[in-house]
Amino acid sequence: MTSPVERSLVLVKPDAVRRGLLGEILARFERKGLVIEALELRTMDAALADQHYADHVEKPFYPPLKQFMTSGPLAALVLSGDNVVEVVRAMIGATDGRKAAAGTIRGDYSLSNRENLVHASDSSESAARELALWFPKL
Ligand code: ADP
Ligand code: MG
Repeated sequence: MTSPVERSLVLVKPDAVRRGLLGEILARFERKGLVIEALELRTMDAALADQHYADHVEKPFYPPLKQFMTSGPLAALVLSGDNVVEVVRAMIGATDGRKAAAGTIRGDYSLSNRENLVHASDSSESAARELALWFPKL
């Protein structure tokens, strides 16, 4: 028996779409060898934001985060590959674009703690929860 390939839920956030960085970010994932299993341009509504960020709804940064995340279209992706959850977290870098290492997506293209271009599942448990939320039929 082989175990099924790992999957991660990735969002290319509205700032990246507005700035014309969607192609660049998708290209990085493709060149790494990850597989795009699903890709949809969607606009997050308030209810989905509250579910997606269930761990953060009580935090002081949540209201402006919700405003930002619902401000325009984002690209929702399912990526797969070996250790994809860990690999994609390493590729996107630290949360704050000002602190993220050069060579990471946030480190190269973001100067913000909020508008940091990409969301990626941070564990296999959060991947399962987020995939069910965004792509229930997959
Ligand atoms: P990550 O996306 O790196 O997993 P978190 O789960 O801690 O980071 O936070 C979710 C999102 O909330 C971040 O990607 C960022 O957009 C926003 N955020 C987190 N912390 C802050 C903060 N201190 N100020 C503003 N926005 C924040
Ligand atoms: Mg997180």
